[in-house]
Amino acid sequence: MKVLKFGGTSVGSAQRMKEVAKLILDGEQKIVVLSAMSGTTNSLVEISDYLYKRNPDGAIDAINALEAKYYPVVEELLSTAESKELGKTIVKERFDVLRSIASSTKPFTSFEEKVILAQGELTSTALVNAYLVEQGVKSCLLPALDFMKTDKNAEPDMNYIRTNVKKQLEEKNGYEIYITQGFICRNHYDEIDNLQRGGSDYSASIIGAAVVADEIQIWTDIDGMHNNDPRIVEGTKPVANLHFEEAAELAYFGAKILHPTCVLPAKQANIPVRLLNTMDPQAKGTLISTKCNQKSIQAVAAKDGITAIKIKSGRMLLAHGFLRKVFEIFELYKTSIDMITTSEVGVSVTIDNTKHLDEILNALRQYGTVTVDKDMVIICVVGDMDYHNIGFQAKVVNALKDIPVRMISYGGSNYNVSFLVSANDKKTALQSLSKNLF
Ligand code: ADP
Ligand code: ASP
Ligand code: MG
Repeated sequence: MKVLKFGGTSVGSAQRMKEVAKLILDGEQKIVVLSAMSGTTNSLVEISDYLYKRNPDGAIDAINALEAKYYPVVEELLSTAESKELGKTIVKERFDVLRSIASSTKPFTSFEEKVILAQGELTSTALVNAYLVEQGVKSCLLPALDFMKTDKNAEPDMNYIRTNVKKQLEEKNGYEIYITQGFICRNHYDEIDNLQRGGSDYSASIIGAAVVADEIQIWTDIDGMHNNDPRIVEGTKPVANLHFEEAAELAYFGAKILHPTCVLPAKQANIPVRLLNTMDPQAKGTLISTKCNQKSIQAVAAKDGITAIKIKSGRMLLAHGFLRKVFEIFELYKTSIDMITTSEVGVSVTIDNTKHLDEILNALRQYGTVTVDKDMVIICVVGDMDYHNIGFQAKVVNALKDIPVRMISYGGSNYNVSFLVSANDKKTALQSLSKNLF
């Protein structure tokens, strides 16, 4: 069985939903993971913001405006009066949930917010399923809230997911298409929760691993992983093959086409992931697997919003235990470190979560002089970079010869070399890497 995931743009209109139907109907049984229609989750975030700011009228206006966008979709998607009626009921029921939260007198908390955010995927999946059923397809819904669960560390509870997705598939035996919601889940306390923005890719990978799929396909609006960020650099090209490790590095360091966490479940279960384009289904896309193009630099990505912290002590290398003390501070504040560089006198690290920055800086000051650089970007160059492949480091460094580089990191894996530059230099750095490497 294959697992196919379609992102927001791929289900962004009635026309696009019909295109998805064409792509998935080949007589083979499959699980189809859908995102909310594009723009919907952003609107749901806005609605929640109104409620956090105790502005229920603003929220109700935004809810009604979003709902109004759905009725023309129902009208265009479905044909018979009966199905149109069903479609309208699907939409109304979901938006009634939003209205009831907005008019509640209870305090608005993250629990209600998560219920609000879940309504986008619940709506899109119900509409696409209604369309397929109207077309005579043996399609049914596989409610993600009945099997997708995270544990007390907010990690997927794979045992629970495996057992319950199988149970659902057995109970609904004999369907061709099983439609399920990306992004949404239940947490350890059984509350409605989600896998973070963009998390439908993660849902697909988790489900693929749970059912031991033959392949996981991520269908989006571009023909695979490009060798640089197509939003910033012109003339980028799709990469045909990536190793799981390469794809994971690119996703983590900013290639938006894949959610950062999405590669791991597929990699652990050794299930190939194919990135494909709904707008150009014939394009080859990218195949992520255990194969890689040897001795080649594959792609570049950039991660924004990075803060660099330097701790300079007297003599770091002789002072054993220094690094442990520094890392313990980050651990205490549950802040993960992305990049590290060391010297005899100190250490530089980068973080992207600045929630506890002040506390961290105060705690670090007991070990030395602390300096901070904000608005930085990690540029990550990915490929088969075993250190025996002489020359690639020189090539990559040379590509950035005109740009001030704050940190360089290589050797953590055979698959990447990373640079820290100022946000102002991001575009030039990406362009220069494309020009010199590809
Ligand atoms: P979806 O809604 O289908 O999940 P996303 O918007 O999350 O789609 O991801 C697809 C987008 O990722 C593309 O439209 C593209 O602009 C962006 N992107 C960023 N970096 C890359 C890259 N290296 N290769 C391909 N797409 C990328
Ligand atoms: N709808 C969610 C979002 O916009 C999840 C996803 O699209 O992957 O973040
Ligand atoms: Mg996405």
